[in-house]
Amino acid sequence: MELTYCMPTRILSGRDCVVKKGAELAAFGKKALIVTGSRSAKANGSLDDVLKALASNAQEYCLYDRVMSNPTIACAYQGAAFAKQNGADFVIAIGGGSPMDAAKAMALLACQDIPEAELFSGKYGTEALPIVCVPTTAGTGSEVTQYSILTNDKAETKTSIATALIFPKLALLDAKYLSGLNRATAVNTVVDALSHAIEGMLSVRASELSDLLACESIRLISSCFTDLSEGTLSFEQLERLLYASTLAGMVIANTGTTAVHAMGYSLTYFKNVDHGRANGLLLGEYLKFAQKTNEPLVRKILAPMKLSSVSAFKTLMEKLLGEKETLTGEEIARFSAIAAKARNIPNSAVAPSESDIQAMFTAAFIPEEAVSPAALRHYDLEFIRLENYIPAAHFRTVPSKLRTVPGGPTEIRVEMEVSQKFAEKLPFPVGWDGKIWGYVHDNESLKDIFSGDMATDGKNKAVYINDWGENFLVTFENRERNKEVSYFVLAKEVSVLLNTCRFVLEG
Ligand code: NAP
Ligand code: FE
Repeated sequence: MELTYCMPTRILSGRDCVVKKGAELAAFGKKALIVTGSRSAKANGSLDDVLKALASNAQEYCLYDRVMSNPTIACAYQGAAFAKQNGADFVIAIGGGSPMDAAKAMALLACQDIPEAELFSGKYGTEALPIVCVPTTAGTGSEVTQYSILTNDKAETKTSIATALIFPKLALLDAKYLSGLNRATAVNTVVDALSHAIEGMLSVRASELSDLLACESIRLISSCFTDLSEGTLSFEQLERLLYASTLAGMVIANTGTTAVHAMGYSLTYFKNVDHGRANGLLLGEYLKFAQKTNEPLVRKILAPMKLSSVSAFKTLMEKLLGEKETLTGEEIARFSAIAAKARNIPNSAVAPSESDIQAMFTAAFIPEEAVSPAALRHYDLEFIRLENYIPAAHFRTVPSKLRTVPGGPTEIRVEMEVSQKFAEKLPFPVGWDGKIWGYVHDNESLKDIFSGDMATDGKNKAVYINDWGENFLVTFENRERNKEVSYFVLAKEVSVLLNTCRFVLEG
């Protein structure tokens, strides 16, 4: 088995670990730059604990407590200058992802003169100050990643510095700091962690080991959904969530994130949507998109949540995230163009094109009744197991020759008898004996198939089974072609049908 996995951060966890394990800080130098947001680290006891630990080691500190949410490039340079002025030997970040990410950039910039134009280039020297992280949200996993994500006004999005130099040396996890989180921040940050675990599995760099961590993270997070939604999380659950978010951080440190983060950054940059919430609003649509070409993978992701469908996942997210923001068509076009350029897109196992991104934004944000049926026609598809609907014995093909029809000479004509159960699902009556007819295509061009006119036999039902990469798209329609329903089925099921079908003579 080929495997690459790296996790250089030492992780210590447990109630009061900052004070109890404070001696660990002594190794990093005489003076710490402490980096926090403006309020929460002072209010939840984490800053006090860090100060106690430093005092017991006779270490000095200077405090930079001006990190805003979604930290800016300017903030990173300012903090780095402050670290240099004060002669800091190492950095301790306390807070959510924002102070941790800002602190990581500061640690790099305190040791290297990197011009702003090269900040995200990936080309750096060899030095950065050692970093210690004390996370106070169960969300970003930044305490165990080599990423610092900054608001990038030039690119009108958020962009990552990614370098092993900023892997924290030490992460101290104490869930007691999380007890004062309000419901919205708790939900939004936990959904970010969930998104990391899920996206890690949807990354081109996913491995057996990262999937193991991701599935465990998803399982732990989903075990807290009810109390998270109701704002009644116990200390034990907060511990579980903090641990799960660190696991998810270990996943993305190895896999990176995908299209979901790329798209979410636009929602944060332009619409001020919290980072985790932005991911949560898009995750269901991306799962639905990925399912079209990799259904087993999506099942594997849903399994630890004990969910049987992407729709069930979307319902769950809707319950957690409440009413959605609104987007206009122009905003969707602009956000899609920006997201399509992100590095996370080619990192996605099922990489969407710009128009796929647009379709996902549309499906996530524009109410269905406002979208023209044409735009949704072939988008809103479900997977079915063909065997439940069309018994192989009732499936026949015309063997003698490939037919030449307007869609091209590649069709095999088929006749199938659908089960009663399936007939009830079709949007038109299936009539006398449940038989419908149609073609199996190995034709890639769906456009030709649907705009062409093949249903000219005077019969009143048709099915087209079209090869669509790893899966087949099965469309049933009435003769007027004004009612249709499409499903994806696994390619292997269609082959089983073809291999076991009965042949009928043409005519
Ligand atoms: P955040 O922006 O760090 O914090 C959100 C809010 O929660 C702030 O108002 C903060 O207050 C408050 N807060 C933090 N801890 C609290 C606590 N224990 N009790 C009460 N309030 C608390 O939010 P985040 O979601 O954790 O981080 C988001 C950032 O992380 C984004 O910039 C995102 O891009 C980045 N991120 C990084 C990675 C990575 O791998 N590096 C991965 C995903 C996301 P104060 O401002 O007063 O502290
Ligand atoms: Fe994130």
